[in-house]
Amino acid sequence: MSDTLDTMLRAALKEAKMWLDNFVVPRLCPVCGEPLQGHLGELCFKCLAALPVCHARGPELIENRAALSNMPFGTGIVAAWFNYDPADPYAGLIRSAKYHDRPILARHCGALFARELLQRGAAGSLISPSDIDVLLPMPMFFAKQLKRGYNQSREIALGMAGVLGIPVGDNLVAVRPHGSQTRLSYNERAANIHGCYRCRHPEELERLNVAIVDDVITTGASMGEAISALAWGRAKPSTVSVLALGATVKGS
Ligand SMILES: [Zn+2]
Repeated sequence: MSDTLDTMLRAALKEAKMWLDNFVVPRLCPVCGEPLQGHLGELCFKCLAALPVCHARGPELIENRAALSNMPFGTGIVAAWFNYDPADPYAGLIRSAKYHDRPILARHCGALFARELLQRGAAGSLISPSDIDVLLPMPMFFAKQLKRGYNQSREIALGMAGVLGIPVGDNLVAVRPHGSQTRLSYNERAANIHGCYRCRHPEELERLNVAIVDDVITTGASMGEAISALAWGRAKPSTVSVLALGATVKGS
């Protein structure tokens, strides 16, 4: 069999399998709920085109701005892909990636976010993502990760890494579990998450430009704790960036 015929046969079999998978368990767009065709990715074109892109950037995305400004390292990029509102259908992107066993959605969204960052960087509206040396996913306590099967922030980081060509590090770790952050105020969240994260092998981060990657920033309490963990761990990166798929922009 020629290579061309073999490639065509494999492609046809793959297409048939995707069609069959969709027929047996149709994949749905996490935003509008419409069935997805196999070649459309993880959300439909219509919802992707109407994404409420987050144009806000900088420390205002984090309620506790001191989390970045009082640190012994510079502030890099602080950006999110879209404006997150729990009552908006686009919140379905985060919910599906976290709770509906769709790590591939998290990875796909990470890749899309990275492409958008590259465009923003090329347009001169943002520091270029090429200035980042390593992506550090927001850590998840191992028992929770065992239960869920994956850490969605790591999946997002892996999706970004594939586009940006930046490695994903494991220097941030969760050393204890914490209760749900939902329905808590900023101060309650900060107390709930306090002491949960540690930085291991801080020497690996010396003089690097690191970016902490998370699924969503609401009050920024978790992000503030992760940034603090770098400082407490005596890590000495040059800059720390904050990248999240979604962010609640105050007043939006
Ligand atoms: Zn849709």
